[in-house]
Amino acid sequence: MKIEEKLSLLNYKTDRSYAHITIDPDICAGCPDHFCVFACPANCYTLINGKLNFKYEDCVECGTCDIACSHGSVKWTLPKGDNGVIYKYG
Ligand code: SF4
Repeated sequence: MKIEEKLSLLNYKTDRSYAHITIDPDICAGCPDHFCVFACPANCYTLINGKLNFKYEDCVECGTCDIACSHGSVKWTLPKGDNGVIYKYG
């Protein structure tokens, strides 16, 4: 099963009042690497016309981006309460 197929099986309870991951746009604007774009399995980070875009809503809470960003841009926490990804199949 491809990762895209696995991701399509997930459900999310999104907390629109709290982003559990934030990035520093000033750091990202000067970043030559954008490791987050290549590391995130859920494609939460994308480059559009050279500008980094981030959406926490599709996050699978793996923690990879917190490790992959060597520039200190990512501030990572878990979603509050029972919000976030819901793994139906374990
Ligand atoms: Fe992507 Fe994992 Fe970071 Fe969530 S925690 S944004 S899924 S790399």
